Amino acid sequence: MRLDAADPLREFRFQFEIEEHGPIYLDGNSLGRMPKAVRGIVEQELNRWSNRLVRGWPEGWMEAPIRLGSKIAQLLGAEDDEVLVADSTSINLYKLVVAALAYQPGRRRIVTDALNFPSDIYVLQAAARRFNAELTVVPSQDGFRVHPEEIEVALDEDVALLSLTHCAFKSGALHDMPRLTEAAHRVGALALWDLSHSAGAVPVDLKGCRADLAVGCTYKYLNGGPGAPAFLFVRRELQDSLESTIQGWLGHAAPFEFDPDYRPAPGIRRFRDGTPPILSMLAAEAGIDLLLEAGMDQVRAKSIALTEFLIEIWEARLAPLGVALASPRDSNLRGSHVSLRHPDGLAIDQALIEEKGVIPDFRAPDNIRFGVAPLYNSFSEVAEAMLKFEAVLASESYKRFRGRSVSVT
Ligand SMILES: *Cc1c(COP(=O)(O)O)cnc(C)c1O
Repeated sequence: MRLDAADPLREFRFQFEIEEHGPIYLDGNSLGRMPKAVRGIVEQELNRWSNRLVRGWPEGWMEAPIRLGSKIAQLLGAEDDEVLVADSTSINLYKLVVAALAYQPGRRRIVTDALNFPSDIYVLQAAARRFNAELTVVPSQDGFRVHPEEIEVALDEDVALLSLTHCAFKSGALHDMPRLTEAAHRVGALALWDLSHSAGAVPVDLKGCRADLAVGCTYKYLNGGPGAPAFLFVRRELQDSLESTIQGWLGHAAPFEFDPDYRPAPGIRRFRDGTPPILSMLAAEAGIDLLLEAGMDQVRAKSIALTEFLIEIWEARLAPLGVALASPRDSNLRGSHVSLRHPDGLAIDQALIEEKGVIPDFRAPDNIRFGVAPLYNSFSEVAEAMLKFEAVLASESYKRFRGRSVSVT
């Protein structure tokens, strides 16, 4: 296909393990593909474990969360001492939300929106309950976007924290991060961004927009592997004013003094808690390196081209068959996945996976998400997947899959 031949990122596909005649994988927004380099890294670290044993810690393991954090920082427009790899996204979120509430104890409100990822909302609810704060969840009028002015009217001088996800997990709608961060600052609140669906897909400029806090996962577009540890970001000027929620020994200024009194480390290190999961953390470096090599501007350009291409095919072939677009039409407002809605969405998703070798995913009640990962997805894959979608509708073969129970969608 001409579009693939002209794609400057086309060679990156060969850096991933991709089975020949295997499925068309359009779920990199949930679990990214595996970079080929992962096997070598894991093998090397297994050897280090076997041969070097506890001596492995000073030989790179102990510093891995900081070193990988500084690489992720480059993808997010952050300084190299502002990002740490640790824990899961949900845990990091809780840690930072509690720290933000403690930072301005006179303020009693947290603001988020109804399109935020459920785990984020649950974490905010728990933190609010625990610390006697009030959580405002700004509703969405159309179910796929919340407009910035709707968030802005919810902000006042009692707000400690505005906590939002940059790219909505269901619709892929993007929030205006610079504008909303500034709106939070205008009322004296901190702004926290969940970048789970942005990191490695949509460029962000944490420094440029003066974001205070951020979290995100590494297993989606960063291709870090199932359950790979997440990251957290704390703006440099805030680091020494925030208390770490979990005062673990590795966040101590001198962990190996084994001092019974806690003294927080300066800078981002105070947000460490316990011993990090080294094998899965180092495995995540391969995917991060590929993105650094490709460059986020090129990644975004291809992501937009792929989602535009998908939407054009939807418009011509699927819209007439009753499939609705549930993502913003304007690429400036859209991340790297496209949601298409159909009342039989789950059955269609299952038919695509089982009959057609196309792997999207499904988000209740009726969203089929097609994620495009610019490092390994091609235009021809997108075209083929959409034509298979059309075939499933035309043949009505999806009806066989109605009423199936599926544990992970
Ligand atoms: C994927 C995702 C998460 C995942 O959280 P984990 O704790 O890593 O399971 C959290 N927030 C958002 C917005 C996500 O998209």
